[in-house]
Amino acid sequence: MSDLRCRLESGTVTGYCFRMYKAVIFDLDNCLSAAEAVGQELLEPVFATIRSHSPGHFSESDMAAIIDDLWRLPLDDIFDKHRFPQPTRDATWNSYSQLEVKKPMQAYDDIGILPELPVMRFLVTTGFRRFQESKIRALGISSLFTEIRVDAIDEAGKKGKQNHFADIMERRRLRPEEVMVVGDNAESEIVAGNNLGLTTVQILRPGVPRGTNADHYIEGLAGLRRLLLRDPKAG
Ligand SMILES: [Mg+2]
Repeated sequence: MSDLRCRLESGTVTGYCFRMYKAVIFDLDNCLSAAEAVGQELLEPVFATIRSHSPGHFSESDMAAIIDDLWRLPLDDIFDKHRFPQPTRDATWNSYSQLEVKKPMQAYDDIGILPELPVMRFLVTTGFRRFQESKIRALGISSLFTEIRVDAIDEAGKKGKQNHFADIMERRRLRPEEVMVVGDNAESEIVAGNNLGLTTVQILRPGVPRGTNADHYIEGLAGLRRLLLRDPKAG
């Protein structure tokens, strides 16, 4: 969003954007909680499935790379990247779809900032429904959001984040300039937000590669609070 457009829309010529944001749409994994926060042992059944369905197919170093990728890439991308045989893909998919977090989970330690933000808060997260919903329960964060949506990859009719964002805006009568999107993934929520003309904020949690397509970059939720409270030093 250019400064000029910002000033025209907000009706100010002071050089600062006094935009009133009404809503922030958050991502979950590596945004509000670390993907690894579920604990390595939770994914053991998936690792075991891969090993048992492809004996000898993957070397130990392949397996190490796959396990590393399981924390940060969508399953389909992992299947393609590591050339999973089709039966192994199917079995891995089924195994993953059964995962469920049953123990309490810790969000990033700045999660307490969320209720201080003077906006409607939405959570839109992509993944297996059972797994994503169990994480939200384990984190105990449901009450922080006006609405929570899982874009479930294991159900027919997966909409994609952009359609969820557009749907939220339509139902809540929100204009693009009133909505901010916060997430770690430059190719997912940041692209979706940009396509809809929303203000996009990439949150650079540890290990997250900085993209080039967001309007703002922050290290954590304190940075978001500064943006929303219109501190001119924020950016
Ligand atoms: Mg994420």
